[in-house]
Amino acid sequence: MSPEGGMSPGGYGRNGRSGHSGHSGRGRRGGRGTVAAAAMAAGAALHFLPGAVAWRKARCRLLPGLSGVGRPGHVALTFDDGPDPVSTPLVLDTLDRLGWRATFFCLGDQAERSPEMVRELVGRGHEVGVHGWLHRSHLRHAAPPVVRDVERARQLLADLTGTAPRWFRPPYGGVSLSSLIAARRTGLELVLWTTWGMDWEPNATGASVAARVADTWWPGGTVLLHDSDLTSSPGSWKATLEALPLLAERWALDGLTVGPLGDHFDDRRDQAGSG
Ligand SMILES: [Zn+2]
Repeated sequence: MSPEGGMSPGGYGRNGRSGHSGHSGRGRRGGRGTVAAAAMAAGAALHFLPGAVAWRKARCRLLPGLSGVGRPGHVALTFDDGPDPVSTPLVLDTLDRLGWRATFFCLGDQAERSPEMVRELVGRGHEVGVHGWLHRSHLRHAAPPVVRDVERARQLLADLTGTAPRWFRPPYGGVSLSSLIAARRTGLELVLWTTWGMDWEPNATGASVAARVADTWWPGGTVLLHDSDLTSSPGSWKATLEALPLLAERWALDGLTVGPLGDHFDDRRDQAGSG
């Protein structure tokens, strides 16, 4: 099922996915209360829409900052659920060949098992975001345990990289009041995505992932992929790897540049508000 299965509250299992919900206030911190309140209200309402597609499109329009809508002509490339000692290095090698940098939303639990991979992500020019400690939906959990989970991951990633993470994408893309409180307490910015490749599906191929990205394209989009099959079909990252060169061809034709979330927004994102 889709990450955004925000429609499936709770849940610790596989499948489902992560999403990020980002927002920015004025600058990184100002206006956060207003932004968070808007996101909370809209997010709560939108999570009950009948389908993930409708929800995604609505949130891209209504909450562009949260959805990762950035500079036109730029693609923010993001990978969730790692690091993984087997698949993440292969993703990194492919990104090197393409000359791309990306944002990796890491799980604390995964990072603790492979701390060297987190350091390598940063060493090779990529950005590290927080996906939580466990891949556990926030939708049915009170704020205190969610805050502890997110802060534990944030602290480990900060220690490993020597840099304070900026971005936070809750597991499964499920934004709850607890998620918003956690973001505020940890000083992280929520960011989901505009576009996905559905690379978690059992029958995903490079071509299918590239086609999904094209089908769900959004100008100034943030693309959700996975460098780990932790919550995806086993070996799904192979389809992700195969999709990257196909995406490169397409985006080159469209004149798009590719980079991490840190390069994706200009001042207009802040003004757009969208928690
Ligand atoms: Zn995830």
